[in-house]
Amino acid sequence: MRCEYGFGVFGATGTVGRAGLEAAGQLGIGVDVLAAAGNVEGMLQLYAQHHPRLIIMADDAAAAALAERLPAGAGCRVEHGDEAMCAAAAGCATMLAAVSGAAGLDSVLAAAGEGRRILLANKEALVLAGDHVLAAARAAGGQVVPVDSEHNALAELLLLAADRRDAIERVWLTASGGPFLNHPGDLEEVSPEAAVRHPVWSMGAKISVDSATMMNKGLEVIEACRLFSLTADQVEIVVHPQSVVHAIVEFADGGCLAQCAPADMRSTIARAIAWPEIPAVRFGRIDWRKLGSLQFQQPDNDRFPCLQLAYQALAAGGSAPAVLNAANEVAVHSFLRRELNFSAISKVVAETVAAEAGAADTLSDLVAADSKARAYAGRAIKVSSLC
Ligand code: MG
Repeated sequence: MRCEYGFGVFGATGTVGRAGLEAAGQLGIGVDVLAAAGNVEGMLQLYAQHHPRLIIMADDAAAAALAERLPAGAGCRVEHGDEAMCAAAAGCATMLAAVSGAAGLDSVLAAAGEGRRILLANKEALVLAGDHVLAAARAAGGQVVPVDSEHNALAELLLLAADRRDAIERVWLTASGGPFLNHPGDLEEVSPEAAVRHPVWSMGAKISVDSATMMNKGLEVIEACRLFSLTADQVEIVVHPQSVVHAIVEFADGGCLAQCAPADMRSTIARAIAWPEIPAVRFGRIDWRKLGSLQFQQPDNDRFPCLQLAYQALAAGGSAPAVLNAANEVAVHSFLRRELNFSAISKVVAETVAAEAGAADTLSDLVAADSKARAYAGRAIKVSSLC
């Protein structure tokens, strides 16, 4: 298929999408396609700043509302729905995949199938069907560049250590620990507002809650295994509240290489855009004289069981990672709507994985497992007294 567009941002009105637009703007890259779920006001703002040729809203009412409010003669087409989203992704030379959750999978697969360059912030797509996404991209001659800061850092370390890959024994991903790392009391009653108040990174609601439960790091372990062909016992997690070090590779002799960068998504996305070059823009810098101390500590698996649930799902294989991801999305959205306690998120996930995970050979097996897991988790939340 002909490449109709240059750069497209999918999930444009979210935090990563906006950071990506800023990074691209600083690098002098215009944007042709913007896609989002239903945020009309946000999209109007982005239209005024970036003048894309095509806007896609997942929601048809949002698309109609947007089309009505665009200035006459705007020269911008407005489309809606999953099919339009996929066609646009397949037609972009480079897509920033920043849709949150499994909803982003189809457009990523569409771009992968056409061999496009995918700057991947949507870790759920890799957790749900990573092998299929990566195989499709490889077969079509495309490229998947991780935008998740730890994986972006790891990609860089592995590039630097390419001649010594056989001597790498394991890798470390850092976790900030989220807002409840040092929370004094019970986590039972913490509010959605407190959970989304991340101490270091500015992020959307879903990933902020994932960060607070440590599920984000669990999903990232799976993401790292998929992206870099690692096994679960080669990926270690260490809590590092300052988020200065993002990833570490450890060699057979105990020597380590660590990647450090300012904790700013614009910086990570600029790196992904320019990959494998170093971008010609800077978003902050680390003043090592002012850092004081950097801390590293063991994750607390008793208080935050989600990380271990992800390791277990990875070990179980089959549909287990897809089921884990689906149950987590349902539980997190219920928590954000105050229908579920914070500490019940991990319980819903564990129960759903125990009930629904099984063999899955094909992409359609995984997609079916995803939707069955969503239904199961929804029922589990309704019948439980977890809220
Ligand atoms: Mg991350």
